[in-house]
Amino acid sequence: MAHCYHHALASVRRYGGVAVDYQPIHDWFDQSKAHHADFRHRALRHHAEGIFLAEAIFGTTITNSDGRAVPVRLIGEDHVREDLGHIPSFTDWARAIAPQRWMMVGTRLEQRLDHIAPPAS
Ligand SMILES: [Zn+2]
Repeated sequence: MAHCYHHALASVRRYGGVAVDYQPIHDWFDQSKAHHADFRHRALRHHAEGIFLAEAIFGTTITNSDGRAVPVRLIGEDHVREDLGHIPSFTDWARAIAPQRWMMVGTRLEQRLDHIAPPAS
């Protein structure tokens, strides 16, 4: 799905109300486009943890214009499924990252410290 507004219209078809009832949640999922302008922006929030984070931010439910309580988690699941066809974990995204030397600098430092000062027993 190309635009958050179209996600909001899909939410209206499923749960009633009007698009602005759902727009803030769908906008939040796609705000990462401001950081990365192609589909890879989805790695930031389009996964199971992102859906739970949306629930923590927006609450367990929203009440739409029809007075109906709609679970935020369902709205998030719909958004991610509409974009990806399924709900990946963050691990699914992380596995797609090609490791670079700079990503491992801290790991090597920890290994060096283990040789210098072994943990107290
Ligand atoms: Zn999206």
